Amino acid sequence: MAFDSLSEKLQNVFKNLRGKGRLSEADVATALKEVKMALLEADVNFKVVKNFIKTVQERAVGQDVMSSLTPGQMVIKIVNEEMVNLMGSETTEIVFKPGNEITVIMMCGLQGAGKTTTTAKLAGKFKAKGKRPLLAACDIYRPAAIEQLKINGDKQGVPVFSMGDKHKPVNIAKAALEHAKSNNLNVVILDTAGRLHVDEDMMNELIEIKENIEVHQTILVVDSMTGQDAVNVAENFQNKIGIDGVILTKLDGDTRGGAALSIRAVTGRPILYAGMGEKLSDLEQFFPDRMASRILGMGDILTLIDKAQADFDEEKAKQLEKKLKKAEFDFNDYLDQLQQIKKMGGINDILKMMPGMGSQLKDVEVDDNAFNGVEAIIYSMTKAERANPDILNPSRKKRIAQGAGVDISEVNKIVKQFDQTKKMMKQMSGMMGSKGMKKGKF
Ligand code: GDP
Repeated sequence: MAFDSLSEKLQNVFKNLRGKGRLSEADVATALKEVKMALLEADVNFKVVKNFIKTVQERAVGQDVMSSLTPGQMVIKIVNEEMVNLMGSETTEIVFKPGNEITVIMMCGLQGAGKTTTTAKLAGKFKAKGKRPLLAACDIYRPAAIEQLKINGDKQGVPVFSMGDKHKPVNIAKAALEHAKSNNLNVVILDTAGRLHVDEDMMNELIEIKENIEVHQTILVVDSMTGQDAVNVAENFQNKIGIDGVILTKLDGDTRGGAALSIRAVTGRPILYAGMGEKLSDLEQFFPDRMASRILGMGDILTLIDKAQADFDEEKAKQLEKKLKKAEFDFNDYLDQLQQIKKMGGINDILKMMPGMGSQLKDVEVDDNAFNGVEAIIYSMTKAERANPDILNPSRKKRIAQGAGVDISEVNKIVKQFDQTKKMMKQMSGMMGSKGMKKGKF
C-alpha cells in the first residue's frame, strides 16, 4: 500500500513525542529532522520539504499552542494541518458548464501513465452524477488506444467517438464536439496521445487543440510510481500548456508518496482524483485531509464510510439492525455481510483504513479468497440450517463439508467464527445501523 514506509517513520517520530509531557526546543528540532528525513526518503520534492519543515517549526515554537493539548500532540496537529495544506486544503471538484452546455475536458499525460483507463473511469463518475459524457479517441499514434477506449467506454455504457488514426487530433476533437451537440451529450472528454517523454510534438498537438476549440478543463494524468518524475512532468505541462488539475494513478501500489505530497506545491494545481487500481471503478476523489490522516496513520474512516454508502442498502441495514438487537443474526445475514465486504474492496483495504491499523497490518495479508471457502460452506447449508444454525449437528456438518468439498474441521471452524462474528456484529450494530451510515452523522 502507498505511503507505508513514510507512514511508519512518521508514526515512530510521533510515538517519541507523545511520551513527553514537556518538549524542549531541542526535542522539536530532533523530531522535525526525522520528519524531514522521512519526507525526503519518500521522494518528496526537496524544496517542498524545506518549506514544510520551516513552517511547522515556526508554528511549533511560536504562539500557536493550545492548553488542551500536550506539546507533543501539538506538533502532531501542526504536521497534520500543514500536510493537508501541502495537498491543497480543500477538495477540488471539476467545474461543469451549466445545464445542457457542453463541458470539454482534455486529458493529457505520458504514455503508460493510465490516461486512457482514467478517461473511462472519469466518464463513469460523470455518468453517475447525471451527466451525458462522450469519449473522443484523439490518440492516433498508439493503435491499441482507440480500441481500448472503445472497450472501456462500452463497459461504462458511455459512447465513444472515433475517426480512426488518419485525422489530426484537433479535427477529431472538433468533430467530437459536433457529434456531442447533435446527440444531446453534455461532456466531451478528449483522450489525447501521450509520448514516452515530454516532447515538443506532443505539447504542440495539445496547444493546437486548445487554440481551436474551447477546452474548459485540462487534466493531467500522472503515474505516482514515478515519484519526482511525475512532479517534473506536471511542472512541464503546467508551464507549456496550462493544466487545471491532476489525476494521480497507481496509488494502490507501493509508491513512496512523494508525488502526492509535492505536485500541488510545485505546480499550484490540485490533485482531483486518485487511481486506486486497474478496475474501472477504482478512482477515488482526492481529499487532502483524508490523505494526510492516512499518511499519519490516523486511518481514513471517512473514505471507508463513503465506500459503504455507495452500495448501502438502507432497508437491509434496518432489517439487520433489528435482527441483531433480537440476536436473530443467521447465516443468511453472514453471507450478506461477506458480500458487502467484498463490494467495499476486500478486508485488507478496509482494515488498512481503520485508524491505527495501517502500520500494524504492514506485514499481514488477509486472504480475501478465504471468503470464497466460507461462502461455499454456507451455500451447502439448507435454508433451515442457514436460518437456524443451532440445528447444525455432526451429521449435518458432515454433509455440508462434503457439499462444499472441504474437511469437516473447516465447517466447525466457520460455525465457531460465526458465533464470534455474531458477538462482534452486536457490538458494531450501532455503526452499521441505518442511522449511523447516513451522511453527516459522523
Ligand atoms: P495510457 O498510455 O496513459 O493511456 O495508459 P493506460 O490507460 O493504457 O494504462 C497503463 C497501465 O496502467 C494499464 O495496464 C492500466 O491498467 C494501468 N493503470 C491505470 N491506472 C491504474 C491505477 O490506478 N492503478 C493500477 N494498479 N494500475 C493502473
